Amino acid sequence: MKLPPFEYACPTTVNEAVALLASHQGEAKALAGGQSLMPMMAFRVAQPTLLVDLRKLSDLRGIRIGADGVRLGALVRWRDILDDKRLETAHPLLKAAISHVAHYQIRNRGTVGGSIAHADPAAEMPGICQTCDAVISVMGKAGARQIKAKDFFQGALTTALESDEIITEIHLPAWPATRRYDFQEFARRRGDFAMSGIALYYDIEGGKAANAHIGVIGVGDHARRLGKAEAVVNGNAVNEALAVKAGEAASAEVEPQDDIHASAAYRRSLTGTLVERALLAAMAR
Ligand SMILES: Cc1cc2nc3c(=O)[nH]c(=O)nc-3n(C[C@H](O)[C@H](O)[C@H](O)COP(=O)(O)OP(=O)(O)OC[C@H]3O[C@@H](n4cnc5c(N)ncnc54)[C@H](O)[C@@H]3O)c2cc1C
Repeated sequence: MKLPPFEYACPTTVNEAVALLASHQGEAKALAGGQSLMPMMAFRVAQPTLLVDLRKLSDLRGIRIGADGVRLGALVRWRDILDDKRLETAHPLLKAAISHVAHYQIRNRGTVGGSIAHADPAAEMPGICQTCDAVISVMGKAGARQIKAKDFFQGALTTALESDEIITEIHLPAWPATRRYDFQEFARRRGDFAMSGIALYYDIEGGKAANAHIGVIGVGDHARRLGKAEAVVNGNAVNEALAVKAGEAASAEVEPQDDIHASAAYRRSLTGTLVERALLAAMAR
């Protein structure tokens, strides 16, 4: 289908972009990679009157790595993450998750900012943000603010972003070298959105797991942490029996719904299996 009519602007500063978004009473939209927005417009799910193309905002492109963690500019593309060798140690879980995103062409265009603003329940990046306690920096007419991931994602395709706000950066806290981690997802074909996916990590203290973070995608209306499964892991040595118990806790904790792709019962069971597999893989790293 052809796109509905719209005006187009290509600002060169974040302030200019914010002013343009604010000038259309909630009817303007930022354009990043266009990999979600263009299909939404073609299907008339979104009909913005103005597209504010972010491509000239070069300040939003870099990946910065420091003692406090990884900072991803909103315009960092999936391809940039996969090509950045520093992330193999600075944030291996991010890299593992992003290798599952979509297909070659889409990974060349899609951006981290676009993904979290779009907030698809099955997208990998929101799952990483939730699992890793990311902080999302945004800029709007009222100024800059930082939003914790747990407050940012509010439902399917729904976030805490105001209509005049632009995501500028995503901060992932520092990653200790000894951390155990894994990412597992199941999709019918590689590159499809996950029917369920698990991002997890834990640290080792005195031979036991501590600080377990387990996040789920594709089950429920947005990515979230699984606190009960985390509690099963914390304070215990990770082994096969514990992985089974954590999987059972995860299955009991999620609230999937039936849809055209899978029944709720299947997604519940799949989530438990993926937690179990991810814990065993993390243990073996
Ligand atoms: C066939 C197909 C398969 C896909 N499979 C997957 C998959 O497996 N996993 C996955 O995670 N994704 C998948 N995607 C989505 C893809 O990753 C998109 O790139 C991503 O969701 C959106 O990023 P974008 O840069 O293209 O954003 P756009 O499409 O440009 O924008 C998406 C939304 O975000 C808003 N936006 C964009 N940037 C900003 C910003 N900086 N601040 C505020 N708002 C902003 C836009 O206004 C719009 O509402 C798939 C897409 C397609 C077409």
